[in-house]
Amino acid sequence: MFSYSANDLYCEQVPLADLAARAGTPAYVYSSQSILANYRAYDDALGDLPHLVCYAVKANSSLAVLALLARAGAGFDIVSGGELYRVIQAGGDPSKVVFSGVGKTAAEVEYALASGIRGFNCESESELALIDALAARRGVKAAFSIRVNPDVDAATHPYISTGLSRHKFGIDIREAAAVYGRARRHTCLVADGVSCHIGSQILDPSPILEAVDKALELAAALRAQGHPIRHLDLGGGLGIAYNEREKTPAIPAYVESLRAKLRESGLAVTVEPGRSIVGAAGALIARVLYRKRNGSKEFVVVDAAMNDLIRPSLYGAYHEIMPVRRNRLPQIVADVVGPVCESGDFLARDRPMADVMPGDFLAVRDAGAYGFVLSSNYNSRPRAPEILVEGAAWRIVRARETHEDLVRGETL
Ligand SMILES: *Cc1c(COP(=O)(O)O)cnc(C)c1O
Repeated sequence: MFSYSANDLYCEQVPLADLAARAGTPAYVYSSQSILANYRAYDDALGDLPHLVCYAVKANSSLAVLALLARAGAGFDIVSGGELYRVIQAGGDPSKVVFSGVGKTAAEVEYALASGIRGFNCESESELALIDALAARRGVKAAFSIRVNPDVDAATHPYISTGLSRHKFGIDIREAAAVYGRARRHTCLVADGVSCHIGSQILDPSPILEAVDKALELAAALRAQGHPIRHLDLGGGLGIAYNEREKTPAIPAYVESLRAKLRESGLAVTVEPGRSIVGAAGALIARVLYRKRNGSKEFVVVDAAMNDLIRPSLYGAYHEIMPVRRNRLPQIVADVVGPVCESGDFLARDRPMADVMPGDFLAVRDAGAYGFVLSSNYNSRPRAPEILVEGAAWRIVRARETHEDLVRGETL
């Protein structure tokens, strides 16, 4: 939903130059149409297969984004009590919430049980024992799936790959049946599913499909042993094309390949997409502060930095950078850098790009996932506002932080 009309870049029907001039920069901008279209692509493609699309809150936890998805009927995949609080504040239905993560605290489990979430994706036997004890105290039963580690290589960046046995995530799939067996003695737990999530930004989904085969096999074995397994949670992980060279299947094609495997299983399916719902729906708008040259190197200094968008610094991630107003000048090759005092503070390196001048706006594309949520106040920089576009309308859904915000909660 970001495209040029004449020489002006729009988000839906909003010219980004106007928006940036009025809201200031840096600023995150999200297209509601794009978020909803991606959610519906999952929901529609799963079709008549009993299913729940649990949006992975950690990708973008803005209340306005959550509210949009909640109204569309989404469930949510959370990894903390804070994310559950956000879902509830946004009007999300706790009975459609699954709680993932390797280190849930007792307080978080209590909060989740009190809120009536749908179930827990568990990653260790001690976690199962804790949930059972807290459920017993409350006099409720807690549904759980074990997150199995299928030992498949997601072939993505090592920091966001989770499905190999050397990773901290999940329980070795070969040991899972024994763990389900021992969990029977926990009288307040109900083993109603099997879950797995092998990583993020996966461009070739064949490792996910391989993990699905393994999870299906396990689910069938568990059912044969009398466990009440009713659903398979396949996690998230489908990537997006950050540049033209990357190719990833469209959501419907990907879901169709899942469906083909699950149709005969009699199991319901949960998916937990994050990035593929919000990633391409967002951009970070920055203003050019300076141009400078050091030796043969050309720099475009902008007012957004690694504290606003850390993906380039953290993962060496590529984000397309487009001028908000196109000009006819020949392209330059430059590093796009921010004001933070780190050489690792860059948004792009050696990038062929528009020949921009101080005062021009740039759009850092595909910043809707793992963008604002990973931002920080490093260098005491107030965090950027978040803006939601709906057709020709836009509104600030999170205000730009102020200097007062920076010191809130501190004492001398
Ligand atoms: C991060 C995460 C997701 C979402 O991953 P994406 O790559 O953003 O789709 C889903 N499930 C779990 C358990 C996760 O940790």
